[in-house]
Amino acid sequence: MNKNFEKLKDYMDKGIALSAAMGLFEWDNETLAPSAAIENTSKIMGILAKENHEALINDEVRELFAGLENAEDLTETEKLIVKKMQKEFKKLSAVTAKEYKDYNELTAKSANAWATAKENNDFSGFAPYLEKIIAFNKKTAKNRVEDRTSPYDVLLEDFEEGFTTEVLDKFFGELKEGILPLADKIKEKEDTVRADFLRKSYDIEKQKEFNRFIAEYIGFDFNKGVIAESEHPFTTGWHNNDVRITTHYYENMPESAIFSTIHESGHALYEMNVADKYTLSVLGGGTSMGVHESQSRFMENFIGRSKAFWEPVYPKLQEYFPENLKDISLDDFVKAVNRVEHGFIRTEADELTYSLHIIIRYEIEKQFMEGELDINEIPREWNKKYREYLGITPENVSEGVLQDIHWSQGSIGYFPSYALGNAFAAQFYHKMNEAFDVDEALRAGNIGRVTTWLRENIHQYGATKNATELLRDVTGEELNTKYYIDYLTKKYTKLYDL
Ligand code: ZN
Repeated sequence: MNKNFEKLKDYMDKGIALSAAMGLFEWDNETLAPSAAIENTSKIMGILAKENHEALINDEVRELFAGLENAEDLTETEKLIVKKMQKEFKKLSAVTAKEYKDYNELTAKSANAWATAKENNDFSGFAPYLEKIIAFNKKTAKNRVEDRTSPYDVLLEDFEEGFTTEVLDKFFGELKEGILPLADKIKEKEDTVRADFLRKSYDIEKQKEFNRFIAEYIGFDFNKGVIAESEHPFTTGWHNNDVRITTHYYENMPESAIFSTIHESGHALYEMNVADKYTLSVLGGGTSMGVHESQSRFMENFIGRSKAFWEPVYPKLQEYFPENLKDISLDDFVKAVNRVEHGFIRTEADELTYSLHIIIRYEIEKQFMEGELDINEIPREWNKKYREYLGITPENVSEGVLQDIHWSQGSIGYFPSYALGNAFAAQFYHKMNEAFDVDEALRAGNIGRVTTWLRENIHQYGATKNATELLRDVTGEELNTKYYIDYLTKKYTKLYDL
């Protein structure tokens, strides 16, 4: 092994260990930690973040990069590791260790302040935190603008390489054109789909059993993963043998946990299936948030909400809850879990209106990052856009601007990943159907064909290819919104008899 690379690898290993420690605290905060812990835990996390910063940003690492510049004895994987580390080095160099420590302490506390503000329906309790978070991101992104047009582009590219406002404006424009007319047409027919049977009482213990079954059914490996509970479902993990997901159970909304579990299992499969040679390195996780969402949304929507998927599985659900479902046909169940509702809450949104929720967040982020929107004006702007795109006005900030955790964690520029994930997923779905009949495999209970295809084409590569490279390798083309719009049009025209 190249001597410089060997030394660089030590720094990488240390960074990965420190990130894992921070990730464990984050996991713990959301699942088991007592509420009084946060004040001191955020200090610990600040210190770990500072250590993590110093493990990468120092003179020796800088020299190692210089020494590796024209090295000819690196393997392909080693070259990719150096490239990825250099990117991270550039990003972290924009802040000092002290700033980084303070910022991590701030975001750990801010997530808590956000939760309290949401509970109290009081934007002003969160506004001072948001103000600091936005200011920090603006300042550090400004240091990294280089040849990009704005600080917001820098943040967007942290989540999805190459997807700047120029690309995203076009992308969201196409989504609007495809989705809005469909959503408008369905709005008049929203009441025609019954879902009353999903609002009955579903025993939580039985729900847990069923969710465990469904996770296992789609390939979640309980030797390598666990399912816990949290307010908002999420996935995290440290290597391909330790992936954690959470879900949230509601007694009168069983589909919420079911589709969260399928969604997070989609994320988990991606992490579990990264090749051993990449795990525990900077290439060892999913390549980007957009591609990650493409995997979770693929499992949740393209697979999990299809009639073919439920054909072998629905009788099992009926067995668990005969009192509520024995007289409900498969068709009625599938219709109910696909019904469109113009609602306030992104995480509860149907597949069709989901991207409208994202467009709103994208437009607002763009405005406040470009200095066109003061913090205190955000709630008003939020409501205005909900009226414009969904025809409804949130009655309070809990259901409005405070519903998402992202900004409190410092994730600005993250939201577009969800919409991109939908579009990537549609492209993968189209390609998969060229390889074999997906519905036929699902009807036969052979979901292994789907997950094998995903592992072979996407998962195993971890972070060695960015989204555009992956799309090109798997589908032969770059992002093309047409597949997603076609899929939605076909699906909802049939479902609502348009
Ligand atoms: Zn997700």
